[in-house]
Amino acid sequence: MFKIIQKTIRTGIVTKAYPAELAHISEHFRGRPSNDSREVTVDYGLCVFCGLCAEASSDKAVRITQEFELATKNRRNLVLTAEYTLNADRTHRQLGTVRRGSGSVETDAKIVGQKARETIHKVLGRSLAIREVDAGSCNGCEVEIVALNNPIHDIERFGIQFAASPRHADMLLVTGPVTRNMELALLKTYRAMPEPKVVVAVGACGISGGIFGENYASLGGVDKVLPVDVYIPGCPPRPQALIHGILLAVGRLGEKLYHERGR
Ligand code: SF4
Repeated sequence: MFKIIQKTIRTGIVTKAYPAELAHISEHFRGRPSNDSREVTVDYGLCVFCGLCAEASSDKAVRITQEFELATKNRRNLVLTAEYTLNADRTHRQLGTVRRGSGSVETDAKIVGQKARETIHKVLGRSLAIREVDAGSCNGCEVEIVALNNPIHDIERFGIQFAASPRHADMLLVTGPVTRNMELALLKTYRAMPEPKVVVAVGACGISGGIFGENYASLGGVDKVLPVDVYIPGCPPRPQALIHGILLAVGRLGEKLYHERGR
């Protein structure tokens, strides 16, 4: 009996103070399995392509490419989530999976251009007219849109031209975050266009409000006011990116005409 008491005194208090104190875990203990990875989500509809994320990424997890054919009919396609496995020091080791929103992304401008010409001539039997509305843009997007008419980009080779009136337009091209002062003008322009018609949101501002966002003066994107058929990312999108997006929208107009005549 005396020996037992002596041993107890020698051993002292063995009860752990967890959770008041951190639990000391044996290195051989097997707890929750972890895949030691990191997810990075990029929204091209918000991105102004400044490149700062790539500069800050010392392990090259993010890099800037020259890819510009990003236009899509589905806003969710502009949101990408990449999953990286990590090194012990938490730097990125390997790009695992890249997940997009649902739907497919159309990237082949040649095929799209060919189809666009066919669609315009077969379905419309005339050239396609675009009405452009600046809904609060910084004019950066307009500089690129104006370049579509120069001899280098020459959008008329596709049978596409800009119209002075919405009453003659098949396509509405909108730049800017849609300021509250421009909301009514944009709606009136849309309503003045004959059916069927397509709407294209240009640039980060047109897609999401861009650097202006949503606030007392800005609605935060064209789809807050109108149904958007095609989104063209960029800040501003370069002329080729605009052509790619416009040709996609021509395909969408063809679909609408098909449905209208099939009725
Ligand atoms: S997307 Fe960029 S370039 Fe275009 S209007 Fe907005 S801030 Fe200007």
